[in-house]
Amino acid sequence: MSQTTFTPTMAARTAIKPLPFHVPAIQEEEIQAVVEALRSGWISTGPKTKCFEEAFAKHIGTRHAVAVSSGTAALHLSLEAVGIKEGDEVLVPAVTFTATAEVAVYLRAKPVLVDIEPIHFHISLEDAERKITQKTRAILPVHFAGHPCAMDSVAAFAASRDLVVIEDAAHAIPASYRGRNVGTLSPLTAFSFHAVKTLTTGEGGMVTTDDDRLAERIRIMRLHGMDREAWKRYTAEGTWRYEISEAGYKYNLTDPQAAMGLVQLSKGERMWKRRVAIAEKYQRALESSGTYRTPNTDPDVQHAWHLYVILINPTVLRINRDQTIEELRRRGIGTGVHFIPLHLQPYYQRTWGYRLGDFPMAEEYFERCISLPIYPGMTDDDVERVITELQHIAAEFRK
Ligand SMILES: *Cc1c(COP(=O)(O)O)cnc(C)c1O
Repeated sequence: MSQTTFTPTMAARTAIKPLPFHVPAIQEEEIQAVVEALRSGWISTGPKTKCFEEAFAKHIGTRHAVAVSSGTAALHLSLEAVGIKEGDEVLVPAVTFTATAEVAVYLRAKPVLVDIEPIHFHISLEDAERKITQKTRAILPVHFAGHPCAMDSVAAFAASRDLVVIEDAAHAIPASYRGRNVGTLSPLTAFSFHAVKTLTTGEGGMVTTDDDRLAERIRIMRLHGMDREAWKRYTAEGTWRYEISEAGYKYNLTDPQAAMGLVQLSKGERMWKRRVAIAEKYQRALESSGTYRTPNTDPDVQHAWHLYVILINPTVLRINRDQTIEELRRRGIGTGVHFIPLHLQPYYQRTWGYRLGDFPMAEEYFERCISLPIYPGMTDDDVERVITELQHIAAEFRK
């Protein structure tokens, strides 16, 4: 028999398929929507993108939603729109994805890292206070894992120091704080539709705002600094004449992506409910284990459950975080780490002088954190498998 038939070996046949850390919830509906968009002829930005923006704005409850090519672009254009410039300082939590901080650098501003608080791992306002200087212009709270930050406190902090608040809501669809949707709480909110996020277009992002002037600026800057309805120059009612008012960027979303986003938006509630059910199963099984600290959820928020992060307890487990991840991998469970604190990364050390020891809470968190799989495609058996393996590890490696 030919070697190319990939006949599984005995071992492979009896092994259980590994459970991936994440699988995007793409179904026939999304595939159909993308195919239709391709057939329509609008394969760059066009009417579907406008439709997605309108649906998103309505869904969040905001005047404007501006579609862009990524969450990073959404953050960059937001900072640009409020006038962040060379020499300005922007407060960013040390535990986030690099995008939150790097966008300040795009504008020659300085990302000033801030330690996290120990309950939800959000930006610590106590530490932020210590990092304020004459040059501080903005604060970028990250709704880490999908649990909204205490936005009343963030807004009060920002107002008293004349800072603008730009929310990094890459983890926070759908999420709300004290009955108000994330996306309506600050002058500007940036969302991401990257493949691993709770609403995906493969790559993509959105800025929400109630401010007409900021929305206008972002619309212009996302497409070469051209006038607002630039994409219409290819329609019957459009004109060939366009005006370049700024040196803008190339950050537009495409119609096939928007078509996918519309489907994802329509099933957002169902996908969220499934993640809630998975989080509840984890919580029930693990919260009293003593080996793993489970997430805290405030009563006045809706948690998006983008991530389910546990912290291992080093006083009862004799293996560390890395070894625990390796044990899980060996047992077929995919996990993640969100995030390696920025001050431990070579770029932030080399350019901004950060070093180990600068952010004690971020470091303690990083030494203990593991993100478990949480996505709509997981079956109850998958969730049970993760729990069982964690329990086996707890028993086997108890001190
Ligand atoms: C994913 C992510 C981003 C960036 O989003 P992209 O769409 O990948 O550009 C920004 N901030 C946080 C916290 C993220 O997790």
